[in-house]
Amino acid sequence: MFDPFEMRREFFEGLTTIDTVIVGRAAEEPCRDCGGPLYRGDYARKPRGGLRASAAEAFGRRFSLCCGRDGCRHRVTPPSVRFLGRRVYVGAVVIFVSAVALAAVTASAVARTTGVPARTTRRWLRWWRGPFTASPPFVDLSARLVPAPDRQRLPTSILERLGGDDTGRLSKLLAWLAPITTTSCPDGSRFVRGVM
Ligand SMILES: [Zn+2]
Repeated sequence: MFDPFEMRREFFEGLTTIDTVIVGRAAEEPCRDCGGPLYRGDYARKPRGGLRASAAEAFGRRFSLCCGRDGCRHRVTPPSVRFLGRRVYVGAVVIFVSAVALAAVTASAVARTTGVPARTTRRWLRWWRGPFTASPPFVDLSARLVPAPDRQRLPTSILERLGGDDTGRLSKLLAWLAPITTTSCPDGSRFVRGVM
């Protein structure tokens, strides 16, 4: 569905604003271990954007929170619309390149136009068809979209059902995925609600 396009700095600045809102909401709650205050304790990342999203490489920090009480130091990393878990490539690239790969004739063409190695893209496509279909965001989306998205054509089968232009669809899917970008923030979806 996507013609490969360049993801610009403004798009990523918008995602950074959303992540700022999310971490702000999460910081309003006390530490779930001891009830102490949560303070910003971001950690360094070196994300990749490939050929189409080099602007994303400016994200040097994943927003995170740390309990301020001595002896606790419990860490909470809230959901993110920029970082998809521990993947080196930013979430927008994981979605975008997967969609490009589904529409492409050859894996080498995808690597040439996106700068993402074919083996990486193949791993992402296996993730969409496999573990992703058991995740809460997919279960939620499947319940809302009738008929349910085709599991063999993820993420395109979701993107084509979301409204807006290309970057708007990407942003919406990133917000849906945000709760699974962290394992240290149970029920993190409440911090993402209405953020788009
Ligand atoms: Zn604590």
